[in-house]
Amino acid sequence: MIPFNKPYMTGKELWNIAQAHVNGHLAGDGPFTSKCHVWLEQTIGSEKALLTHSCTAALEIAAILLDLKPGDEVIMPSYTFVSTANAFVSQGAIPVFIDIRSDTLNIDETKIEQAITNRTRAIVPVHYSGVGCDMDTIMSIASRHGLIVIEDAAQGVLASYKNTPLGGIAQLGTLSFHETKNIIAGEGGALLINDPIFIERAKIIREKGTNRDAYFRGIVDKYTWVDTGSSYLPGEIIAAFLYAQIQEAEDITSRRISMWNTYHHAFSNLEAKGLCRRHFIPAHCQHNAHMYYLLLNTMEDRNKLIDTLREMNIQAVFHYIPLHSSPAGKKFARTSGNMSVTNNLSQRLVRLPLWIGLEDKIIDIANTVNSIIEEIYSK
Ligand SMILES: *Cc1c(COP(=O)(O)O)cnc(C)c1O
Repeated sequence: MIPFNKPYMTGKELWNIAQAHVNGHLAGDGPFTSKCHVWLEQTIGSEKALLTHSCTAALEIAAILLDLKPGDEVIMPSYTFVSTANAFVSQGAIPVFIDIRSDTLNIDETKIEQAITNRTRAIVPVHYSGVGCDMDTIMSIASRHGLIVIEDAAQGVLASYKNTPLGGIAQLGTLSFHETKNIIAGEGGALLINDPIFIERAKIIREKGTNRDAYFRGIVDKYTWVDTGSSYLPGEIIAAFLYAQIQEAEDITSRRISMWNTYHHAFSNLEAKGLCRRHFIPAHCQHNAHMYYLLLNTMEDRNKLIDTLREMNIQAVFHYIPLHSSPAGKKFARTSGNMSVTNNLSQRLVRLPLWIGLEDKIIDIANTVNSIIEEIYSK
């Protein structure tokens, strides 16, 4: 069976973990964590990067930083992972879902303004598949209405929008290093702080609500409980693993892009014949080949493709069940406007296997997909 995903190791991870032990520091915020922070700050251009256990944890810190009051609203797409919404629900806020664009499957920026009320506090654009949302429009709406923007760049490491790295555009950004993402630590993430106003408090929230960081920097003479927070920092074993990946991040990305290009060229005929729509990348976006997806013409065709591929030992998968149609989404969130694009495209999307080590098989998989789709539409 060709799995949909297989976590990649560079070969340096275990050596780094042994080194972390030699360093005599296995709790969080040791030398490997610092190296990861420096790389993230230099690569993304953030004022401060903070490693977390997950992108979920980074979104939670962001939500705490907003000082939300019960009933405050946060605008986001429904076509996203649970954590985008859950982090804000945990702080008493109401996610307000709006529809996505049919080309990129990103939040439809033209529908944001009509979703804004006097309770709106923030907008959370999700850069689906490492393709940037229309950040110019989103940032200008936010500044007009005094809203904070938090980029969910979980899938967006080393991708950019108009030459600015994803996660480095809004006041706050979040990354994921989950094993299904491009650069991995098993479970892991980062909070990217681009507006320095949030730095000190973010450090406190991440360190159990203590001013431990200020104490170690000699700014206060004892460390104590000063704010709300939790333990959001990963240990050095995770950071050591991640640093090995980070050192090969450019190479990993270009190898993924080359596989992505093979798929994309292989499906141009299908698209020309109207049998499917290919993954779309706007000219001003540099993507990171986080995934390769196709949109079939109907849900039935999409499911037939997935089933037939499974019979041929290739695992292809659909993606999000829109959050507005989930039990918790109905309970904790509301929608603004209709969700027709979200409902429609989520039923027609299929993601193909794409991971380092699959280079030799991509063309075979593409040929198989091509003949299955031709067959589906020949009837
Ligand atoms: C993967 C993902 C997350 C969650 O990341 P974790 O590191 O698993 O918490 C959040 N948002 C989006 C868009 C994701 O793709």
